[in-house]
Amino acid sequence: MHEIQVHNTLSGKVELFVPLKKNLVHMYTCGPTVYDFAHIGNFRTFVFQDILRRFLKLRGFHLTHVMNLTDVDDRIIANAAAAGVGIRTYTEKYVQAFFQDCATLSVESPEHWIRATDNIDSMVELIQRLQKKTYTYDSEGSIYYRITKFKDYGKLSKIDLTGIQAGARVDNDRYEKESARDFALWKAPKAGEHFWETPIGPGRPGWHIECSAMAMKYLGETIDIHTGGIDLAFPHHENEIAQSEAATDKPFVRYWLHAEHLLVEGEKMSKSLGNFFTLRDLFAKGYKPSALRFALASVPYRRQLNFTFDGLQQATSSVERLRNFAARLKNERFPAGKPASMAERISKAANDFDAGLSDDLNTAQALAAMFDFVREANIAMDKGEFQQGAVKAAQDFLATFDKVFAVLEDNDAEKLKALGYGVDDGGPDDAAIEKLVADRQASRQRRDFAASDRIRKELSDRGIILEDTKDGSVRWKRR
Ligand SMILES: [Zn+2]
Repeated sequence: MHEIQVHNTLSGKVELFVPLKKNLVHMYTCGPTVYDFAHIGNFRTFVFQDILRRFLKLRGFHLTHVMNLTDVDDRIIANAAAAGVGIRTYTEKYVQAFFQDCATLSVESPEHWIRATDNIDSMVELIQRLQKKTYTYDSEGSIYYRITKFKDYGKLSKIDLTGIQAGARVDNDRYEKESARDFALWKAPKAGEHFWETPIGPGRPGWHIECSAMAMKYLGETIDIHTGGIDLAFPHHENEIAQSEAATDKPFVRYWLHAEHLLVEGEKMSKSLGNFFTLRDLFAKGYKPSALRFALASVPYRRQLNFTFDGLQQATSSVERLRNFAARLKNERFPAGKPASMAERISKAANDFDAGLSDDLNTAQALAAMFDFVREANIAMDKGEFQQGAVKAAQDFLATFDKVFAVLEDNDAEKLKALGYGVDDGGPDDAAIEKLVADRQASRQRRDFAASDRIRKELSDRGIILEDTKDGSVRWKRR
């Protein structure tokens, strides 16, 4: 096994990963702001942190991983007020949708899901600590953080602080990225909007204080790993550092890991461009959860991911290739024997897989290790050279692989059904069906019955019934 190296945004370098406590990793992930359905750009980050936590577990670490639900912020408060409901009622639908989306993409639950609105007391206490150390000032009922007092401000995002104006303030949680400003820790109530009565006055927390308070409450004052999308590095994570380290005089986070942006067909995703997708948008088009997870996981997290429908189609085929290979191992009978060469080949593949993931989570390298092996093993099987004695080692490697990538189990149809998508929303179009029927015929001709059975099952899951005729052709109909 290889030493685990990760890129730390704080140092700008790839570093050896060693947690503070042996075998135990304390990790915090900025979760979604639950005012809408999460989109595939959000899920690029959530799949990345899932691959990270699964890999750390595979390598024997215990995890205490916290993910928050930002269920109070400017937009939520305004939308809830406009809808005439409380913020809990307003956000509940999106919280539940987020949990379902995570389950559908096989994103594991962290050890703690935490709602900001359950932790207002901790936020107030942290603001009081900052007040005592004179990092704050009041203005018109709000409390601001004085960033010029925190000498290390900018160390994460390396933002240029020349020309910074002392006292220049911003009230909006998600402000312009160009300039550093004093930001609101606590916001004065607005007419008609939700607020809390607290020892520091009536109001509501700013976005940044939520994560500092919750991370330290559940994980301690110095945590091992903090993850998020790269767009959170400034100002959100910079402000988390300023708040936490000013209060404790201790390092807040030892390793900061940030996932790069996702583009769609080479362009920034936006509702106005019509290239904005939630998971559900893609499932409604007939794409599988496993294919989407594979597509999001296949590009190493520090590279921009260009999401394309061609790529999603390729991901579908890649998952299919792996499942077919697993089915061959399970169903076919191979000649007896246990050649040392195949055992060596499998252990090399497993070693390359571990090397890839240990190298700052290089998923592309880890996948290449798997697919090179699958290609060679399939050729050996076709030639009758793959022997029964190698089956167990190959299956063990697949199982190891799947502890991280989690795409082998053939459960897409059930997952989609649970979300309300399935056979009765039109299903695949004629061309897609014809293609699968032709693929199945080709599999039968080369006597790959595992593959042909899988295609039959896939079609059946999507509501298509096949009838093999006497002349060898195939008819199909919708159920
Ligand atoms: Zn956060």
